[in-house]
Amino acid sequence: MQQNNSNKVVVAILVLIMLLIGFSMVSSSGYTAKDLLNDVLAGFIVFGFFLLIVVLLKKFAKPQQPQAQMQMQMEEMDKDFIIEPQKSDVTFNDVAGISEVKEELVEIVDFLKNPEKYKKFGIKLPKGVLLVGPPGVGKTLIAKAVAGEAGVPFFYQSGAGFVQMFVGVGAKRVKSLFAKAKANAPAIIFIDEIDAIGKARGALRNDEREATLNQLLTEMDGFEKSEGVIVIAATNKVELLDDALLRAGRFDRRVYVELPGLEDREEILKIYLRDKPFKGDVREIAKMTVGFSGAALASLVNEASIYALNHNKEYISNEDFLAVKDKVLAGKKKILSYTEQEKQVLSYYQAAKAVTARWLEVDFDKMTLVKDDFKEIDRELISKSEIESKIQVYLSGMICVEDIFKEKYSNASNDIKKAKELATKMVNEYGMGDKIVSSEMEIAEILNEAENRAKILYVSQKDVILKVQERLLENEVITKEEVKAISDEIL
Ligand code: ADP
Repeated sequence: MQQNNSNKVVVAILVLIMLLIGFSMVSSSGYTAKDLLNDVLAGFIVFGFFLLIVVLLKKFAKPQQPQAQMQMQMEEMDKDFIIEPQKSDVTFNDVAGISEVKEELVEIVDFLKNPEKYKKFGIKLPKGVLLVGPPGVGKTLIAKAVAGEAGVPFFYQSGAGFVQMFVGVGAKRVKSLFAKAKANAPAIIFIDEIDAIGKARGALRNDEREATLNQLLTEMDGFEKSEGVIVIAATNKVELLDDALLRAGRFDRRVYVELPGLEDREEILKIYLRDKPFKGDVREIAKMTVGFSGAALASLVNEASIYALNHNKEYISNEDFLAVKDKVLAGKKKILSYTEQEKQVLSYYQAAKAVTARWLEVDFDKMTLVKDDFKEIDRELISKSEIESKIQVYLSGMICVEDIFKEKYSNASNDIKKAKELATKMVNEYGMGDKIVSSEMEIAEILNEAENRAKILYVSQKDVILKVQERLLENEVITKEEVKAISDEIL
């Protein structure tokens, strides 16, 4: 800022001096205004030439930092970078719910405890496990629990902590981290928010990040001999990660950690209420906290306790939870939670999909308020009617919601997108349209027909859908078997 101002002053003074010289020359005899104009023009050309040289010099001569000074700064930054193993006393018992995630990791615990056993049978375990899920669902906690259960040291690093201003710092840190872990093997390295390092190398190059990522890849490829180091990394955006990271021998095992469902929320709440004077209905609290992560539930319990204490109560009760729920929600904008009305819409929407899928034999295990798990068809040969059924399922939620609420909602967008993709594939790739040469019209036609069929089926299945909706709203989840039972009962 200051620099800028002083530049302006210098330019102003120069212009003033030039004007004065010009005037004094014109007023002296023999020098005409035309001469002045010519001189000024010539002056401009010479000035422009100098300016060009200055600009070019500035561009090519990067400000050189003396090597020694840079080295010092690098070391200065690394002073704060401490790689010390933590001893974890977290066990699987401290992690509520997410039983499927735990099951996936039990084998790794066993491997860390008895590497010899695995070596004898030549079993190769993953070097890297990627925990994928939104913030606060317990990814760090579960990694700590793996270390705690196996009784091995835990090295925590956040991805962002590696990537620094100077190219090379991150790579150096990765190298020292792995060296330290190997020296302490068996051990767990946990890298939180790995996307900070491992983002796909897109158009925007970042030399430091790239160098760090390359070092990480090198380390992961290189530690065959040093058995006993397992790298667990966490991200909430696996689709952003560089493919190289996901290749075999690196983070080739992926475990999805999702927001807790009703049962899991109840379990988590129980853990945090364990040592507190609580008199109330945990199930009720679990019900009113759809969309809360484990972390959000932990802070909800804390807020409710403070509230009860401030109101001189002897016990914490559901009332206290109700009183602070909105506050916790507001403080954590990121957690999604649904109003009663939204839950209604979602439950009708998903119920229709579940019933339609059951009827058309589109396979799934369970349906929740916000998620389906329709199986990808992974056979070589897929029939036209199979794909049409799937499209019909994707459109059925919207049809039901429109009928019940006389309104459309944005939650349909993802399913509509999937339906369109399938219809496009049918026409463009599989030649399943009427003509071999595809057209937009044909795609639209497939979608229209599926919508019509879905409407007819909806009417005939409405009773079943309404029953399934009730169950879904109550439990937030329904299995295929439950849908089948309800359907058999009614029809
Ligand atoms: P993430 O790594 O997924 O962002 P964390 O593991 O850091 O989440 O979770 C933050 C905190 O939330 C934990 O320390 C714990 O207190 C609580 N928490 C989250 N999930 C659970 C769970 N399943 N069981 C018990 N506590 C949980």
